[in-house]
Amino acid sequence: MSDKRTELDTLGEFGLIDHLTKNFETLNSSTQFGIGDDAAVVALSESESQLISTDMLIEGVHFNLMYMPLKHLGYKAVASNVSDICAMNGVAEQITVSIAVSNRFPIEALEELYDGIHAACKTYNVDLIGGDTSSSLSGLTISITAIGRAKKEEITYRSGAKENDLLVSTGDLGAAYMGLQVLEREKQVFEASPDIQPDLDGHDYIIGRQLKPEARVDVVGFLKQLNVVPTSMIDISDGLASEIMHICTASGVGCHVYDEKIPIDGKTSMTAIDFNLDPATCALNGGEDYELLFTVRQEDYDKIKGNPHMTVIGHITDKNDGIYFIDKNGSAIELSAQGWNHFK
Ligand code: ADP
Ligand code: MG
Repeated sequence: MSDKRTELDTLGEFGLIDHLTKNFETLNSSTQFGIGDDAAVVALSESESQLISTDMLIEGVHFNLMYMPLKHLGYKAVASNVSDICAMNGVAEQITVSIAVSNRFPIEALEELYDGIHAACKTYNVDLIGGDTSSSLSGLTISITAIGRAKKEEITYRSGAKENDLLVSTGDLGAAYMGLQVLEREKQVFEASPDIQPDLDGHDYIIGRQLKPEARVDVVGFLKQLNVVPTSMIDISDGLASEIMHICTASGVGCHVYDEKIPIDGKTSMTAIDFNLDPATCALNGGEDYELLFTVRQEDYDKIKGNPHMTVIGHITDKNDGIYFIDKNGSAIELSAQGWNHFK
């Protein structure tokens, strides 16, 4: 280490990962794909691969226990990891769970956390096969690794999108972000006047999307039934804009995405407008929807057309055409990756 000091926020999260890992060469032929997608890909046999993804959740950075019940936190931590396996078009089979916990937490609190983890294991049919437990000086940290499986020819990387492919989103977007805004607002009200009961009426849907998101394992099943292998796929954890940028950068393509096509639930839009926010901005820059974003060849359009779980929101263009959001007036706005920069 030299005396030079460079601040972390000069690189951003992805810049930092790239900077730290760029000199690591692949030494084993079983390593089919390492850093840079939703999960790493390791050869299992001629035709099958293992998918491995890891995520860490830190109290105060990723979750706030003032409004996040521990049981929901456990469930969400598993769901978000299973979502990364879904994003590779695979099926999750095992998880490991590591926790660091301060003496602020009684055993009962950790039992709640593990009840949530257990519920998610049953929902997603995954086995808890190990982990690690440590004390922490402050707060709670959870790190989960999900292990899954996929047929080699069905694995979907971020890098496979081709010009003229259709860009498809599952479910609806922006709800988890608006749910968070409502929870944050009520937390502030509570902190100012603890006697006032939180007013969450009418916000069940968006709060549910924030507190109890589901990984779209169903969509991976639908794609198989429809006989569609997406050309690229990613899960929408950091907001639509950031995920579109990831697919376009990894695939070396451009994209047009249309404001009026973005699936946004009416309850999300209404709450966004109450908060003086543009609903599309919430979908583009919010996070934690855990829907899937994928591209399919034009020939596959008939197979997904009219599917209630899938919405075509745009198409892939040549790289030189850029990455554009077309608003309701037809104006093209260049997209930038807002995503969450953890260091800012
Ligand atoms: P996701 O949002 O899908 O969970 P991330 O943005 O966390 O993915 O990570 C992007 C890629 O960088 C992944 O392939 C991940 O495994 C890898 N990665 C992240 N942090 C590190 C690290 N500290 N060292 C090595 N690889 C990392
Ligand atoms: Mg991901």
